[in-house]
Amino acid sequence: MIDIKNYNSENIFAKILRKEIPSEMVYEDNEVLAFRDINPIAPVHILIIPKKQYCSFEDFSKDADDKTICAMIRSISKITRKLNIKNGYRLVTNIGKDGGQEVPHFHVHLLSGKEFGRILP
Ligand code: AMP
Repeated sequence: MIDIKNYNSENIFAKILRKEIPSEMVYEDNEVLAFRDINPIAPVHILIIPKKQYCSFEDFSKDADDKTICAMIRSISKITRKLNIKNGYRLVTNIGKDGGQEVPHFHVHLLSGKEFGRILP
């Protein structure tokens, strides 16, 4: 079962951050990396992650310093401008088992390029 209490530095996003495996990067600054999801569910599917080690939004929102939190939030509009997203987008972050989280490094999905409709059918 996914463990979001103890950071696993062998998770796939930790390896992307260490450049051990490739990613299609769309944005980077000192605190944040954003890259294309390998299995996109929308025409635009970007994953935005902090460079520091947090398992999910749960420990990120509790423990991250203000500079890191601010950088994560501000990166979003930088990315939407860079990708010329004009018609809106959806942000999703899955947390733990019930949230459907698979990779235990905090990430935000930025989805765009089509109309998603209501959050649940
Ligand atoms: P979540 O279910 O919220 O943990 O989302 C994990 C996401 O990571 C999924 O949408 C996967 O398609 C994506 N993913 C897994 N491995 C990679 C990878 N090597 N590069 C890019 N995206 C990945």
